[in-house]
Amino acid sequence: MVDLTEYDLTRYNRQMMIQGWAGEGQARLKASRVFIAGAGGLGSPVSIYLAVAGVGELRISDADRLELSNLNRQILHSDQRVGELKSVSAEKTLRALNPQLNVVASSDYIDADSIDRLAGRPDIIVDCLDNFETRYVLNAYCVAHKIPLVHGAIWGMTGQVTFVHSPETPCLKCLIPESPPKELFPVVGVTPGIIGCIQAMEVLKHLVGVGSTLKGRLLLFDGEEMQFHSLTLRRMPSCPVCGTGES
Ligand SMILES: [Zn+2]
Repeated sequence: MVDLTEYDLTRYNRQMMIQGWAGEGQARLKASRVFIAGAGGLGSPVSIYLAVAGVGELRISDADRLELSNLNRQILHSDQRVGELKSVSAEKTLRALNPQLNVVASSDYIDADSIDRLAGRPDIIVDCLDNFETRYVLNAYCVAHKIPLVHGAIWGMTGQVTFVHSPETPCLKCLIPESPPKELFPVVGVTPGIIGCIQAMEVLKHLVGVGSTLKGRLLLFDGEEMQFHSLTLRRMPSCPVCGTGES
């Protein structure tokens, strides 16, 4: 277990007042390693809030360069950085927010060959992606190594979050067996803001050991009607990733 410094005790004082958090919880957070897949709309709030909460190591991967049309929602980045690699821009922002944070940023594509090197067998992985092909890569890696995965996805003013920890919960492939078509979808920045903050909260609760997570539940957010619903999820025994693969 790592020791907290005077700086830590001051910086994180207010969150350590939360029931069950205390110095032990903060030390667990400081010792933990998180991999964030994507430095876009969801990756922005997730990485920012995990950085300022005092996570020890944040790995973040995104192969894209920043475009002007990203800036309505990707608050890790700014106007002057259009054209820069998002990974480079993310690293600058996160280091400025918390100089004590160990940031490992990469612009390599996440695929079945690179995932182990990019993620580095972390304590938890956060799905901040915008496509299901890469989500399935994350999911297979997490199921194989029993690493918890916090899934988030958005569309327009709606979104969803769930906490996958196989074999205790269904995996992402049980939930969404087929990849929806890749398309340019509508989105306003507050949607990934809300969904990303919920993902960050799930990560913090898991790492610190407070509260209960969305394990086995899918939280659905409808921003147009401002409603939250949650559904109980079931494992698919025939799931090709976490089940037998036979129907
Ligand atoms: Zn499954």
